[in-house]
Amino acid sequence: MSVEFIAPPIWPEKLSENLSLESTLKELSVFNFQVEASHLGKEVARLFQAHPLLPGVILTVGGEFLGMISRRRFMEHMSRPYGVDIFAYRPIMALYQIARADVLILPGVALIVMAAQRAVQRTPELLYEPIVVELEPQVYRLLDVHQVLLALSQIQQQATWYISELYYNLSVTKSELETANAQLAAANSELYRLANSDGLTQVANRRCFNEYLDNKWKLLPEAAAEISLILCDIDYFKKYNDTYGHQAGDACLQKVARAISKAVNCATEEVAGETLVARYGGEEFAVILPGISPGQAVSIADKIRVGVKELAIEHLNSAVSDCVTLSLGVGGAIPDLETPAAKLIAAADRALYTAKEKGRDRVILDTDGC
Ligand code: GH3
Ligand code: MG
Ligand code: MG
Repeated sequence: MSVEFIAPPIWPEKLSENLSLESTLKELSVFNFQVEASHLGKEVARLFQAHPLLPGVILTVGGEFLGMISRRRFMEHMSRPYGVDIFAYRPIMALYQIARADVLILPGVALIVMAAQRAVQRTPELLYEPIVVELEPQVYRLLDVHQVLLALSQIQQQATWYISELYYNLSVTKSELETANAQLAAANSELYRLANSDGLTQVANRRCFNEYLDNKWKLLPEAAAEISLILCDIDYFKKYNDTYGHQAGDACLQKVARAISKAVNCATEEVAGETLVARYGGEEFAVILPGISPGQAVSIADKIRVGVKELAIEHLNSAVSDCVTLSLGVGGAIPDLETPAAKLIAAADRALYTAKEKGRDRVILDTDGC
């Protein structure tokens, strides 16, 4: 398996300063993950697990480009009833033949603004599929659609600035400028939302979670303030999919995400603007609570647990209840610059593991500290 991560993913603040309307896809960081189609599904699953930001992999046959399978499609097929049994021990080609969808392939010299337009014009089903970039003939790389949207957002901000300049130079009327600015601002905020939210549940995505936690972790030491993290995991969700089907599973994820957001908003009214609810992984959600003590976070976590239970989503094959339930792990810390934010995640993760072990449908606080 040829796995080479040629450039780190771009975080929003690390986008090139010099992107302009003339910038091309070559100026963005791309992923170079190529897998021979004869490799087994479980090897690709391991690859996705090891690289949480990898949006997909390029498939090759004898080194020649075959196509692309996105993380989302891969996970979707693996999580179908018997998905793992069918695909884990077969060549990834088997899954590709069933899961393949129209791939957007663009040359490296394509303008970012054009590429973004092409990407968002795809059907909602394909909107978040990564783009294949042909850097030069037969050299293919993968581009996360979020990066294109973020780059476009930056280019539009630049364009706003140029319009203001034009206004002064050409004496464009004030109202024309205001209309153009309002349109650009609306387009920018929509792009920002698309780039930071999870396509299925509409809460923040994993990328946004990482960025937000890192930022808060860097800022809080100044105030010596604490921060808490809740990890929520749906109990026996694989059985839910097996019983009610993948589509019902998706709908369940959407309802659970809404219930988590509602419980967090109600419980943290005064600091609601500071909290972040994100989809952390498949059926896992995370809540970042800056300025909230672990004790308060436990009570918020319990409100989430009760809120989801009150949805009364039938789950007759759950071993813990006849409806969908959550297990929640809570971790807390006072950030300092010497300790990585990952310690807070590890604490919440430990607590979540204990909640599962102790019988699920409960909240556990990590008492080891971090
Ligand atoms: P536990 O109580 O120990 O958490 O058991 P579990 O079955 O919830 O955990 P496990 O990790 O074994 O399975 C998680 C399942 O979540 C596997 C996959 O079928 C499902 N899943 C992950 N992402 C999605 C998704 O986007 N949509 C749907 N429908 N299911 C998903
Ligand atoms: Mg899980
Ligand atoms: Mg689970």
